Amino acid sequence: MPSDAQQKQYALIANWLKQSNSAVIFTGAGISTESGIPDFRSPGGIWSKYRTVYFDEFMRNAAARHEYWRQKSEGHTDFANAPPNAGHLVAAKWEEAGHVRGVVTQNIDGLHQMAGSKHVLELHGTAREIACMDCGARYNADEMVSEFLNTDTVPPCQKCPGGRLKHATVSFGQSLPTGVLEEAIRWCQQASLIFAMGSSLVVHPAADLPQLTKQMGGRLVIINRDPTPLDGMADVVINAPIGETLQAIDDELESA
Ligand code: ZN
Repeated sequence: MPSDAQQKQYALIANWLKQSNSAVIFTGAGISTESGIPDFRSPGGIWSKYRTVYFDEFMRNAAARHEYWRQKSEGHTDFANAPPNAGHLVAAKWEEAGHVRGVVTQNIDGLHQMAGSKHVLELHGTAREIACMDCGARYNADEMVSEFLNTDTVPPCQKCPGGRLKHATVSFGQSLPTGVLEEAIRWCQQASLIFAMGSSLVVHPAADLPQLTKQMGGRLVIINRDPTPLDGMADVVINAPIGETLQAIDDELESA
């Protein structure tokens, strides 16, 4: 059971949310670990096990493309069957209710959309799709990954000969999708309230976004397992799981 002090905090946040029609939900890997998806930056995660294939190497070299596909295909099963959790579902509910403008996420797993969020800005792209680097064609990732696992061959683009297919995520050395960051900046500047959840808030430029809301006079609520560099400027910091915290805030919202 939450303490009285915690309960007051939930009620306070619910009240801010109720008054808002432009809140932003900003999420990092921590919300997805609650769906059983490993944080691939963590020790033992994919990024620590394999060598990094940088974007320019991917573009130049067929062997690098094969290595990239091998790593990505192994990681694919980690999230392909993971369901959205309470955190994703409550975020979608608040958007539907008109309190939240949308979600800005560092995640590539597509779980916010699966939970019902309509306005999602994916700063690092999506692993649910494959993109042709040469003609821009898009494909479903599940089918292409199966093809790779069955044939051990990087699938060819079906729209252009020799087109280089890659997960529609942002690789090391690849720039963020144009327009997405600009839109996220606009949302964060115009938000009266921002939730920063499950992000260590150290990777830039993502970590700068919650600060924009504060600079423009909005409120910042941080929900994260560990302390972050922005805790000092936050209006409320909650070091607890995201799903149960959002559920508790939502209960307050419903009972108010
Ligand atoms: Zn193509």
